[in-house]
Amino acid sequence: MLPWKELVSGFTFLGSTVPLVSSAGRGIWKPKSMGLPISLLTSVKEIYSDGFAQSNMLQYKYQGKNPDQFDNNWMRELRRTREPVIYFLGVSKGTYMPIWPVFVVGDDRINQQVFVQCDSMDSLTHYQHDNAGFDDSLAADSRDHQRAYITRLTRQRVHQGVFRERVLAAYQRQCAFCHFRHEEMLDAAHIIPDSHPDGEPVVRNGLSLCSLHHRAFDHNILGVSHDYIIHVRPDVLKEKDGPTLAHGIQAMNNRLIELPRKQIHYPDPVALQHRFEQFLSNCG
Ligand SMILES: [Zn+2]
Repeated sequence: MLPWKELVSGFTFLGSTVPLVSSAGRGIWKPKSMGLPISLLTSVKEIYSDGFAQSNMLQYKYQGKNPDQFDNNWMRELRRTREPVIYFLGVSKGTYMPIWPVFVVGDDRINQQVFVQCDSMDSLTHYQHDNAGFDDSLAADSRDHQRAYITRLTRQRVHQGVFRERVLAAYQRQCAFCHFRHEEMLDAAHIIPDSHPDGEPVVRNGLSLCSLHHRAFDHNILGVSHDYIIHVRPDVLKEKDGPTLAHGIQAMNNRLIELPRKQIHYPDPVALQHRFEQFLSNCG
């Protein structure tokens, strides 16, 4: 993840600073010193409507209403030249996930969008072979599969990144059980697991938890009832051991979780209850 100010401060090229994105917030960024655009940017609001309808591709909306506006022509130029660009996806306010390299692979004038696929650095090398006259349809076919696969993986990574960012932001970047604040040790835990059909990656199905409490929650050592009270599995409550058990686990019993600042982000009581029943069934 990269903060906006790092994108704007960019890199040095031939002695001058080149931002990675347009500081004016334009979606397609072609610095003056470059022959082609170097990045595509998707805003926080547009991220799901822009990028996720098709399984093997990301979409990118045309800029403005005119399909022949110069930035839209630049996207066609990217498609024609098959040059890679960086795709910056806004996952929360001011935080972007860079995806590199991506290629513009299709143009849809009717719906005013282009299609973008992700690739890996490995196939970028193959692609350069192609440019030098190496053209094997079998290799091209396997490259298409690889791109589709990497794009799907990227989509999952983006979903996870968006979920984590949103949940952590809702809980003001602390553990909902113990208030621990080291972000590198915080996770967005699912209340209903993401493998379950109802396990949606939405804030109300999440809890911001530190590593210890995430594991304890996942393994039903700790449970949360629909009234946001933490419960410790009875047999674990009776154990005797060192300070991690006493302070980290047993002391959580009957505590109210630290709720998000906004009520709309509170955990869904129905999801909590559903999950809590699973906890109770583990209580013996
Ligand atoms: Zn914790």
